Amino acid sequence: MSQTHTPALDNLSHETRSFAPSAEFIATSIAKPQQYEAAAADRLGYWANAARSVLTWDTDFTEVLDWSQAPVARWFADGKVNAAYNALDRHVENGLGDRVAIHFEGEPGDTRTYTYAQLTTAVKQAANAFESLGVTKGDRVAVYLPMIPEAVITMLACARIGAIHSVVFGGFSADALRSRIDDAQAKLVVTADGTWRRGKPSALKPAVDEALAKEGHSVKNVLVVKRNAQDVIWNDSLDKWWSDVVDSASTEHTAVGHESEHPLFVLYTSGTTGKPKGIIHTTGGYLTQAATTHRDTFDLHPETDVFWCTADIGWVTGHSYVTYAPLINGATQVMYEGTPDSPHQGRWWEIVAKYGVTILYTAPTAIRTFMKWGRSIPDSYDLSSLRVLGSVGESINPEAWMWYRDVIGTNNGANGERKEHPTPIVDTWWQTETGAHMIAPLPGVTVTKPGSAQTAVPGITVDVVDEMGQSVANGEGGFLVIRDPWPGMLRGIWGDMNRYKETYWSRFEGMYFAGDGAKKDEDGDIWLLGRVDDVMNVSGHRLSTTEIESSLVAHPYVAEAAVVGAKDETTGEAVVAFVILQIDPPEGEDVVATLRAHVGKDIGPIAKPRHILVVPELPKTRSGKIMRRLLKDVAEGREVGDATTLADNTVMAQIAESMRK
Ligand code: ATP
Ligand code: MG
Repeated sequence: MSQTHTPALDNLSHETRSFAPSAEFIATSIAKPQQYEAAAADRLGYWANAARSVLTWDTDFTEVLDWSQAPVARWFADGKVNAAYNALDRHVENGLGDRVAIHFEGEPGDTRTYTYAQLTTAVKQAANAFESLGVTKGDRVAVYLPMIPEAVITMLACARIGAIHSVVFGGFSADALRSRIDDAQAKLVVTADGTWRRGKPSALKPAVDEALAKEGHSVKNVLVVKRNAQDVIWNDSLDKWWSDVVDSASTEHTAVGHESEHPLFVLYTSGTTGKPKGIIHTTGGYLTQAATTHRDTFDLHPETDVFWCTADIGWVTGHSYVTYAPLINGATQVMYEGTPDSPHQGRWWEIVAKYGVTILYTAPTAIRTFMKWGRSIPDSYDLSSLRVLGSVGESINPEAWMWYRDVIGTNNGANGERKEHPTPIVDTWWQTETGAHMIAPLPGVTVTKPGSAQTAVPGITVDVVDEMGQSVANGEGGFLVIRDPWPGMLRGIWGDMNRYKETYWSRFEGMYFAGDGAKKDEDGDIWLLGRVDDVMNVSGHRLSTTEIESSLVAHPYVAEAAVVGAKDETTGEAVVAFVILQIDPPEGEDVVATLRAHVGKDIGPIAKPRHILVVPELPKTRSGKIMRRLLKDVAEGREVGDATTLADNTVMAQIAESMRK
């Protein structure tokens, strides 16, 4: 008997553009096609080589992977390695002490430069200071700092002594901070008086005071960096100035190797979907994958490149691609404290030009914002130094990808000259849980496609499966899974191993389930389609949020779009779209009808939104991701759920207001 095969996710998009790397880029490319073959032939051997090539081990390992306690992996378990030594001291020992490690640009325009030698000394002092405050190996340290060099120094000082850092977004509330301090039982909190936001001082210390006001916490000391010189309320029993404790500490500190499986940090996921989870990462495997992917995905030439990852250290991208990988790889990087529009909307491009940034790594939300502001802003800067552009955090809509390439990637100077070969774009898919890139093109190797993350990085086995866990055919959609353990994988959820097993390992036997939907195109390349919790079921069709959003964003009226499914009596669910307009539509124009017709024509009648609501803003997390579950509440007329991780908590009120009109 024949059975109709219903794919787990319909495939709607018709994107067909593709771009081969230029011969010029291939000539000096770090990544080579042979890496895929080598990794496929001997996956563990590939990672063992990687571990020994990107890291200097105090004690070499004999076993690569121990999977006997699955789903908890042990990588390089009998090896010993110190993260801070690898990020700092060894470069100085190798004669690179004068190379710039960090160009820091404060929001008010103040700057600081740390060479590798200077950063090593600063971290040694911080390590001594933390030890003098009673912090020892295995203790947890909560880090509640802005994007200033002390954030990186604190994380590396923890790593050096084997303390486990738990970075909490500077934008999170006192309650969020307290719950994370309690969950990890942090002994030390490192914070600052505050930071700068759009030209004004913005306080941090009061949130720490409020978080610790209620008794019963685990904190013994609060170390306060002076950043914005605002008055702070001082608690004599807990508070100490960083300048008093760290600056006077000894500049001698010997790093010892820690076990490869020693926890390096706990990081709570950004909270797009619900209650944050304390993701545990350990040392050797995590550092190996972070450094390897940083080198290959970005074609890093550490002698000449200037790398800039715009992510806050409060999320995983800031851990892997600000604090750890660039320094392990001996790169020069830029660190910027503020917002992209302070004091003007060209600030980022000014920074790129000033430091000669060659590799820029940012998020689709930022790219869409720049599109909204208009190309004349980046066009008036000299961005000729750029040679690789990266994206992370959400699917990058094909139109945003093309804009990134055409506007940023071909800019060859403020006189309007364009590059002959646009810079490659690398869309990187990964998660807090995966530690480092998992799916990403390799510039110089991959023929890139706008909107697709494409190919698992060498040594990683990803797949797209149907409801039963069977691989789907090319051209079909389903659930994204990871089939083999990988070095940078999480080792659990802090204090809740059952939740770890349930969340990631219970949906499909023996596979890690990432929670995202994806499809394979006709070439087998992978396209991320949004979270499976957000997939809409319309008259038996399983529709992806990403594809409909990308279609809306491709219309000239639309700057940003978020799509959700709302319960519907006839179709099961109905597509509801929230859009931010890019331009004022012509007089008398029915925007909603035009956009509905556009989606219908672009991807098919089934995807036509039932309702389109024009809103002034979309709810986003601090890391810039759209929180669709809040919009679903609005679309279904419910009270809006937990919105504590929103970047701007007035957004939901603005949306409600615009709906009343
Ligand atoms: P939470 O798990 O608490 O809900 P979160 O998933 O937003 O938060 P992260 O670990 O920062 O926290 O984000 C990982 C998720 O971001 C991925 O599972 C995926 O949904 C999305 N994502 C990241 N990079 C990409 C990308 N290049 N393309 C598509 N989606 C991406
Ligand atoms: Mg997640």
